[in-house]
Amino acid sequence: MAFGSPARRGERVEAVVPSLDPFRQLRRMALRQDDNRPSRRFGLINLLLIGLGTLFLLSNVLTNPVSQVPRVPYSLFIGQVDADNVQRAYITSDQIRYELKTPPAEGAPTVLATTPIFDMELPQRLEKHGVEFAAAPPAKPNFFTTLLSWVVPPLIFILVLQFFARRQMGGAQGALSFTKSKAKVYVPDEESRVTFADVAGVDEAKAELTEIVDFLKTPERYLAIGARIPKGVLLVGPPGTGKTLLSKAVAGEASVPFFIISGSEFVELFVGAGAARVRDLFEEAKKKAPCIIFIDELDAIGKSRAGSMGVVGGNDEREQTLNQLLTEMDGFTAKDKPVIVLAATNQPETLDPALLRPGRFDRQVLVDRPDLSGRRTILDIYAKKVKLSPGVDLDRIAQATSGFAGADLANLVNEAALLAARAMRTSVDQADLNEAIERVVAGLEKRSRVLQPDEKKVVAYHEVGHAIVGHLMPGGSKVAKISIVPRGMAALGYTLQLPTEERFLNSKDDLEGQIATLLGGRSAEELVFGEVTTGAANDLQRATDIAEQMVGTYGMSDTLGPLAYDKQGGSRFLGGGNNPRRVVSDATAEAIDREVRGLVDRGHERALAILRHNRELLESISKEILEKEVIEGDALKGLLATSVLPPEAVAAV
Ligand code: ADP
Ligand code: ZN
Ligand code: MG
Repeated sequence: MAFGSPARRGERVEAVVPSLDPFRQLRRMALRQDDNRPSRRFGLINLLLIGLGTLFLLSNVLTNPVSQVPRVPYSLFIGQVDADNVQRAYITSDQIRYELKTPPAEGAPTVLATTPIFDMELPQRLEKHGVEFAAAPPAKPNFFTTLLSWVVPPLIFILVLQFFARRQMGGAQGALSFTKSKAKVYVPDEESRVTFADVAGVDEAKAELTEIVDFLKTPERYLAIGARIPKGVLLVGPPGTGKTLLSKAVAGEASVPFFIISGSEFVELFVGAGAARVRDLFEEAKKKAPCIIFIDELDAIGKSRAGSMGVVGGNDEREQTLNQLLTEMDGFTAKDKPVIVLAATNQPETLDPALLRPGRFDRQVLVDRPDLSGRRTILDIYAKKVKLSPGVDLDRIAQATSGFAGADLANLVNEAALLAARAMRTSVDQADLNEAIERVVAGLEKRSRVLQPDEKKVVAYHEVGHAIVGHLMPGGSKVAKISIVPRGMAALGYTLQLPTEERFLNSKDDLEGQIATLLGGRSAEELVFGEVTTGAANDLQRATDIAEQMVGTYGMSDTLGPLAYDKQGGSRFLGGGNNPRRVVSDATAEAIDREVRGLVDRGHERALAILRHNRELLESISKEILEKEVIEGDALKGLLATSVLPPEAVAAV
């Protein structure tokens, strides 16, 4: 119910996990490619080139020794010939060297050189003046030139060929690390060892994985009965719930080597590199068996082959990698030396069905967001790492953090510690924890955003509208706080509703109440100002979503009956929401639209009726919050206690 904001409690956990943007992937791959080129190889080639260059220069120097003979113009040479002063001349294609009979001056050089020009008359002229002359024999290639022209080009050719051949072959010789698996072997030392004690709130998952640990420790026991040891276990769940942590705990408990690699690290620019890496990884693992291979973000390679048409780049590559993975998982059968493949994903529905067949990832372990007691134990783990003030009530924090994943809770405790440190306190108070919840929920407080006074008034009435309607609606939550302090991305104010009990089911009544509460903000604006603002956009979005789900998913419509008009699709954990509609007749589609519209309209009417009936209360709380900016706790409870349901609002449903 944040005013104009997507941030509201209950949504916070739908942390957006960056989907696989193919371009980003490509860019990353390109980068990695660069990193990969072993500098040693380039050094070698450079060295070779430098060596060749030197050889070339050297041979030039040796064959054409720089002459110290002074050069003179050709005209002077002709003049000296005509003056009968030239004894002999030696003519090559680029120089004429000649010896004078008498030097022009005492001590001047007698041997001179000139550059020849095209002169057919020269031989006759020399003969006429009695000059001894000779021409150089045609240039004969010497040893170095022969070497250069015959040996070096093939040599370069072979080297280049080898460079590419090695890149493609991808043997495990380590010629090029393109094809080496990048798996890191995680060897837990005593301090950093993760055990099941470090993971809380996911007891079912722990129980399942305990069995895996048992397999790894005493495979004989299982083999004696003829039980087949599972090859693959897929951890499935929303981000931040501790999947990576759990798999590390499995390795820590079983004390076996643990190979950890992310699915995206298999995907490379070159087709075949990923497959080679998979092969390499399993080869390494088999040497170290019994051991665990953990493939994080399996969806990066395991996407359904059928559904991935038209993805830019790396499609072929991913398919090959996936096929190789399937082959490897089918391949290893060493009974007493198990290699167990753990994998994690938060998009199980995108995985290729072939991955989930028996003998592959046939076991799926759900790692879900923790419930109340789970959150409490996770908080305990992290609270031990900071100094808590005496009297801090972690139960209350656990209650207020419904929907938080383990990672959120870890973050929460850390935020609280940071807040305490900033305030120069030596231990973490309840207030720090409360503030930290809000930070995690709605982003950092931004008091710097200044609202115009009239805007502030609209926000105040809007939020109080939510609060009054929310207070009177059924469902297991109470309004705990109203704030018109802008915070986070776009929130100008918000109303915080906290659950009073842990709920897994919502009745039709609850959902209708939620819709009315969401429309409370807009309704208050209409009543008080007679016009509406853009601030309710997010409320409307969510109200419409709820109404659509009631009709399409939960079969809660009286006229349309208990049919699911939405197909289950999208991501189960990331709150995909955009379920495709089943094929329905035009008439049914219209009826669905009418039902959804009707639900939202009824919620709107209800909210309007409640606020009309409690108009004075709306005014008084709004005035108060305009002064105080925040109302919470008992003060708010006292104010809202005087609200009453209008008789017609009950009848309207
Ligand atoms: P995932 O792999 O499911 O996205 P991680 O295992 O990477 O989540 O969790 C991130 C961090 O959050 C962990 O390192 C740990 O500190 C904390 N965390 C998450 N879930 C739990 C849990 N169930 N118990 C304790 N800590 C947790
Ligand atoms: Zn609102
Ligand atoms: Mg993870």
